Amino acid sequence: MPPQDLYEILPRFGFDIGRRAIKIDDRLAQQFLKKWPRIRREWQRQQEKAREEEERKRRRLAVTEGTAKEVTLPAIITVRDFAAMLHMPVSEVLQELLRSGILANMNEPIDYATAAIVSEDLGFRPSPVTATDTGAEDVSAAAAPVETAPIAAPSGLPRAPVVVVMGHVDHGKTLLLDRIRSTHVAAGEAGGITQHIGAYQTMQQGKPITFIDTPGHQAFTTMRSRGARVADIAVLVVAADDGVQPQTKEALKIIQAAKLPFLVAVNKIDKPDANIERVQQELGALGVTSEAWGGKTPFVPVSAKTGQGIEQLLEIILLIADVERERLLADPDASAEAATVESHVDKQEGPVATLLVQSGTLRIGDLIVVGDMLIGKIRLMRDHTGERLSAAPPSTPVRVLGLKALPEVGDIVRVTTERKGLTAAKRQVTRPAPVVVAQAPAEQETTTPAVVLPIVVRADVLGSLEAVCNEIERIGSASARVKVIGRGLGNVTENDVLQAEAAKGQIFGFNVRALDAVAELAREKHIPVTSEKIIYDLLRKVREALEVLLPEEVIREELGTMHVLALFRKETKWQIVGGRVTAGKIVMEKGVKAEQIRGGDVVAVGRLLGLQAGKEDVREVVEGQECGMKMSGIEGLAVGDTLRFVKEEKRKKVLG
Ligand code: GDP
Repeated sequence: MPPQDLYEILPRFGFDIGRRAIKIDDRLAQQFLKKWPRIRREWQRQQEKAREEEERKRRRLAVTEGTAKEVTLPAIITVRDFAAMLHMPVSEVLQELLRSGILANMNEPIDYATAAIVSEDLGFRPSPVTATDTGAEDVSAAAAPVETAPIAAPSGLPRAPVVVVMGHVDHGKTLLLDRIRSTHVAAGEAGGITQHIGAYQTMQQGKPITFIDTPGHQAFTTMRSRGARVADIAVLVVAADDGVQPQTKEALKIIQAAKLPFLVAVNKIDKPDANIERVQQELGALGVTSEAWGGKTPFVPVSAKTGQGIEQLLEIILLIADVERERLLADPDASAEAATVESHVDKQEGPVATLLVQSGTLRIGDLIVVGDMLIGKIRLMRDHTGERLSAAPPSTPVRVLGLKALPEVGDIVRVTTERKGLTAAKRQVTRPAPVVVAQAPAEQETTTPAVVLPIVVRADVLGSLEAVCNEIERIGSASARVKVIGRGLGNVTENDVLQAEAAKGQIFGFNVRALDAVAELAREKHIPVTSEKIIYDLLRKVREALEVLLPEEVIREELGTMHVLALFRKETKWQIVGGRVTAGKIVMEKGVKAEQIRGGDVVAVGRLLGLQAGKEDVREVVEGQECGMKMSGIEGLAVGDTLRFVKEEKRKKVLG
């Protein structure tokens, strides 16, 4: 693989190595090798695309140079017949149509103008059917062998559609998901509390719909980059008061690249400055036309805040699912396969993962593997309402306990009956993290017990999670360091709070945040949750949090010494003393201490309260000068004693 291609492809697999990297380290190389089959597939796809582009160029050239084959087209023709006429696979023609912005199915008729443009793109020279044409060509062409689209049709029983919600930040994805969950999910037996486990299932008109509960396209792309094709339908959320924004476009690209059927949820229509038309216009400019404007994309005005339009949204999802019903099949009796939607280590329960069953049925007692690595036996399964399940059919999200190792988000988990040939999973239980803590000299380590700040790290994508954790673990010194005790993708969860509480730690999020309920819990438990969108800000906050824990440093400055010549007056709390400065100086400042020295030892400590030379109050007396002073009582002070004056300042320690 040429390095250029490698630079291009690595970020998409969560390797953030930049474009100038010359070397990568062992650990990254290992991870890279693990993903190599997937990377290679992606690379091949890219090359395929480049070849196609080449081919299209060649065809266009053929048309302009007049060497292209002729094709005679009728006024109206179905896509299927059109493809037959060109002797091309229907799928390729459909794709070419899509490139021209026309989303059609193969039985749909297209007009001459459309067919002519597309056939030129495909390297033909089109001409309209004239009166002398008999149409015989149509018939013969239609009879020509037609390759069908090479998409393996799934078989089995209908399963719930899996829906992913994408859109620009703050356009209301989270609230929308929360709203749907709270109004349409029947709470189970576990105290009626629904849990955020990364996915949930709703019932609409007696039909189930599964929602991926991690808003935003990062989660989706992470899963896809690891080979999981989880979603069937996308909801593109656009705030009616904000219109199309950069991440709206990005999400749209992802949806289109994944060929996901989608609908647009025009959110926040309760706001006075909501402008649905503007959203329609801006999306129209991107080739997404609403049904109301003669296009193909359903637009549903909603308010995640008031709940308005949510019913229609769910109904339209069901309609799309119905159109897609031939793809929404899975065999519950097949060997079970599930995609990992969320995973983390729980304090009590160990590795816990939310799996979305894709085919077959997961059962208690199943041995599960990722690749050829055994990750454990399913001890317990719960749904998102906390209810125990003994079996989970396709499209069911389940929280699985009893694992020996954590599958990563996007990992495909399979059920196996064979233990043979499997790698034990132990080494994965705690994910390898590089320890970059600077080693202190041994004796120092024993005298200053290390301050450790345990933290839970959350990030939006795997690439940044690893990067953030690596950087965080570098923070600290010999006597103070940070320990990452948990990490995960997506918003902060209740579990993170509990984990942080148990460890007396804190939570740090990169590009994620704590939803209201979680934030509330964190407040209750006094667990600080810090979210930042810029990695340096996050690292600075971690550093500050660690510095708070450092013990205060006392900076001691010896000012000077005095020989006591006379004791003038003694009260219970203070006395007046006279003497001569024998070394250094004495300064009248707050906090200056007087140490009584006998035989080289400090036998008592008092405070300097006032300083005089002659009869004047002074701020400072120096070596050789005589002075009188008011000081807090050192009980046994006697003429002939030495007093040493020191200034002590408490200072916050900072990390080097
Ligand atoms: P996300 O970043 O897309 O997940 O957006 P959030 O769901 O966090 O919403 C961002 C902000 O918009 C929050 O303050 C929500 O309360 C608010 N919001 C979301 N949906 C609506 C809505 O329909 N109407 C109004 N008025 N505010 C909304």
